[in-house]
Amino acid sequence: MKVVVAVKRVVDYAVKVRVKPDKSGVETSNVKMSMNPFCEIALEEALRIRENGGASEVVAVSIGPTQCTETLRTALAMGADRAVHVDVGPITVYPLSVAKILRAIVEAEKPGLLILGKQAIDDDCNQTGQMVAGLLKWPQGTFASKVILNKEEQIATVEREVDSGLETICLDLPAIITTDLRLNQPRYATLPNIMKAKSKVIKKLTVEELNVELKSDFEVCQVTEPPVRKAGTIVSTVDELIDKLKNEAHVL
Ligand code: AMP
Repeated sequence: MKVVVAVKRVVDYAVKVRVKPDKSGVETSNVKMSMNPFCEIALEEALRIRENGGASEVVAVSIGPTQCTETLRTALAMGADRAVHVDVGPITVYPLSVAKILRAIVEAEKPGLLILGKQAIDDDCNQTGQMVAGLLKWPQGTFASKVILNKEEQIATVEREVDSGLETICLDLPAIITTDLRLNQPRYATLPNIMKAKSKVIKKLTVEELNVELKSDFEVCQVTEPPVRKAGTIVSTVDELIDKLKNEAHVL
């Protein structure tokens, strides 16, 4: 069985993002970019499934500009067997377009599992996995905190963290899984593996080759900084606090 993992290149989680002066988005040039943390967890899970004999191959896929190959090199260095880059040039692709591209990849690769992050930390959409599942009509286990694969019965048991506790569901394969934070601790790529990954081939595809039309489903009107929070004040007594709540904040 093959596992396909979708890995997105995003602004590194430690970078303080800056909005572009024309408010069209956030600045990404000269900014450190990395693999989306939830995608690292997705890849780690796929690697563990392969290491436990549940899969024979892990294929990492990234959709975006040329620089996505850097993210795919990281995926190869972590242990992915192959990588596919769908080059869409400098345009921003949104979840429905990504989902349509992933459907085309899945139809070509025929994996038993497609694993994605639960959300990308740049757009926080939390939509792509669910959309691919809808397009493919595959069962989905979202926000997975534990995955157990039964290769013989072709079932994946997925534990999900829900508001009321833990929900356990069984999915018939092929299926979609999206990963939550507590699923695993992703490995670091070792230096020898980083060196080996440099010589691995990254297959390049275009949307035309995949027969996917990139139609924008919506338009981003503007991106703005969140309002600056006013500094708080320290009160010395409870009476002073009550007075301020009553006469300044008018909440009492
Ligand atoms: P989102 O729905 O945008 O929050 O993204 C959820 C997940 O979908 C990510 O963690 C990735 O696994 C996958 N994904 C979204 N966009 C891309 C992309 N451009 N390339 C590869 N995977 C993506």
